[in-house]
Amino acid sequence: MNPFFMFALLIVGLGCFAWTAARRWKLMFAAVAPDNRSDQIDERIRGVMKYVFGQSRMFRYWWAGVAHAFIFAGFVVLGLRTLIMFARGFTSDPAFGFWIFDDDTLLGLVYLFIKDVLSVLVVAGIAYFLYLRLAVRPKRMQLTTEGVVILLMIAGLMLSDMTYEATGFIRHHPEHRAAFHPGVPAASMYSFLLEGLPDAAREALHQIGFWLHSIIVLAFLNFLPYGKHFHIITVLPNVYFRNVGGTGRIRTIDDIDGRLERGETLGVRKAANLSWKAVLDLYTCTECGRCSDNCPATRTGKLLSPKHLTIALRDHLRMNQAALIGANSSAATPARASETAPSTDGNGKHKYRLPDGAIDETDGDLVPGWINPEVVWACTSCGACEQECPVLISYVDKIIDLRRHLVMERGEFPDQLQTAFRGLESVGNPYSFPNEQRAEWAAGLDVPLLAEKPDAAVLYWVGCAPSFDDRSRKIARATAQLLKTAGVDFAILGPEEQCTGDPARRAGNEYLYQIFAKNNVEMLNSRGVRKIVTTCPHCFNAIANEYPDFGGKYEVVHHSVFLFDLLRAGKLRPAHRIEATIAYHDSCYLGRYNDVYDPPREILRAIPGLSIVEAVESRDRGMCCGAGGAQMWKEEEHTSAERVNHARARQILNVLPANGHRSVATACPFCKTMLSDALRDKGHEDIAQMDVAELLWRSVSGEGVASQAAHAAP
Ligand code: SF4
Ligand code: SF4
Repeated sequence: MNPFFMFALLIVGLGCFAWTAARRWKLMFAAVAPDNRSDQIDERIRGVMKYVFGQSRMFRYWWAGVAHAFIFAGFVVLGLRTLIMFARGFTSDPAFGFWIFDDDTLLGLVYLFIKDVLSVLVVAGIAYFLYLRLAVRPKRMQLTTEGVVILLMIAGLMLSDMTYEATGFIRHHPEHRAAFHPGVPAASMYSFLLEGLPDAAREALHQIGFWLHSIIVLAFLNFLPYGKHFHIITVLPNVYFRNVGGTGRIRTIDDIDGRLERGETLGVRKAANLSWKAVLDLYTCTECGRCSDNCPATRTGKLLSPKHLTIALRDHLRMNQAALIGANSSAATPARASETAPSTDGNGKHKYRLPDGAIDETDGDLVPGWINPEVVWACTSCGACEQECPVLISYVDKIIDLRRHLVMERGEFPDQLQTAFRGLESVGNPYSFPNEQRAEWAAGLDVPLLAEKPDAAVLYWVGCAPSFDDRSRKIARATAQLLKTAGVDFAILGPEEQCTGDPARRAGNEYLYQIFAKNNVEMLNSRGVRKIVTTCPHCFNAIANEYPDFGGKYEVVHHSVFLFDLLRAGKLRPAHRIEATIAYHDSCYLGRYNDVYDPPREILRAIPGLSIVEAVESRDRGMCCGAGGAQMWKEEEHTSAERVNHARARQILNVLPANGHRSVATACPFCKTMLSDALRDKGHEDIAQMDVAELLWRSVSGEGVASQAAHAAP
């Protein structure tokens, strides 16, 4: 075509992109927190195939997923086309396609057909997204001009390529006539529109299509790093380097004492304390709002919105780019909040900045200088945001890192947490009960202690709530009786058991957590424990997913899975009918964190008489009860807003019949407490709130069934 012009275009376009990309790259590595993601390469590659090329998360919002899949596929296929176009700029061969994709080769013809069809599908996808942005305007999305400009650029890419193709088609057709050709159906049909033009005009259009396509591609490339569409470039590495351990495994801070001695920051205080992966996350956010759309805190009116948190952190990074990538990154100080453009939600409500006029005196601290502390403390760590994010951004670790700095370095945290911390420090449990009372729940059941039965095949790890809380003690009693009935060789630790430390870790007190984790692992290892059954999904998650970092590697099974296995093996027989309609509530730490959805439901299905209904949001879309992330030990932020447990109870009430024998089943003592509190607050004390183990024990033993106790308040 014109080698000189193409050369100049590429030098300018790619040169400008390289300059911006280098700044983004430097900013990413100005972040200092270590974060090794070089493990589990096969799992990482599988994730890229599933989430990037398979687009699997996108389809959680069906039509947007279909439209995005069209555009994504079009981009992949057009990537080659763009290279071919650049190359044609240097050659006089209009059919050039790196020899194997030349227009007259078999591969070239197949490629042309696929590209032609995909061009139309991409335009359909763009039309859908324009309709969504301009007509539907969903609140979850960030409706910016940038989004529309990018869509129009993509449409321009398709149209210019199609024009180049259609005019070329006429040029090579006998007598320069248009005709339908099944090998390029869209371009050949488009050629009918151009047939009537004079040859010179068509030739000009052919040139315009070619150069416009090349110019738009390079302009598009340069536009990407300045906005949310940077994800087109960053999504692949972001998915590859994702948290393969999932939401349930929080990164361990190594050598806390040494760090304290060296004066290093614990957690995240300033942007420079973020890890390179956290910065890559921020670059990759598409501002689709799926995270906030499913966040129980956002949905109940708290200040926390994961999308806005991500955008606020990204804004902060960009505004401090010069200082962060300069010689002394610790000099990074955010502009005064009053000088910044506000980040807003769909209602125009300011989310994160200090009130107008307030001056940030915090020397660049993210909290409270840039992020309201209420945002940090409202997270229930439910993982709904991470489950939804199509580009696999993580939030829980960032929020916990912000808490870690507040708790361990500044001693700033909600007052009520002090009680839980004190209980943990003084007696080994957040309830502050003397640890000697740990086994009182088992009075009269003849449950052996591990100290008396050191060769027991299974250790039943009871957990703090089932040990001390009256409502939850019933779960432990039911579980122990079921284990005995099934003939399981098990023992408990009794007073030797302590909290796993999960509440401390989720509250940001990593120092305290590690004391518990190390002590528990040492004790379990010294006892030769190999198999553990837990009642509480929080204990289950901590021991199964986080204790391996401390040398504790065990087979850990949640009681719902263990009991279901006993049922299947015929060792438990639920013979007594329980006539009730029951809704099962998914625990976040059991379901989303550890993929246990079916065993608790199977237990309920095995109980004769029970009729099971699903809440509107269930399984991996199940709404949190509001207890996780150490919320169990504190008041909710923004108490004028709806409580999370009330919102969840409302959803469950919607699917239960208005009267009759009704019940809500759970498989987590915290969920049980939160939902029974909410049902009581809403005047539904008649609706029984029971663990699956309690229901199973009733059906197996017949205890309480004669009086139709399933619908009576426990
Ligand atoms: S973990 Fe749950 S509460 Fe926390 S930000 Fe994500 S969705 Fe919201
Ligand atoms: S963090 Fe993920 S889910 Fe949330 S707005 Fe960004 S891309 Fe969407």
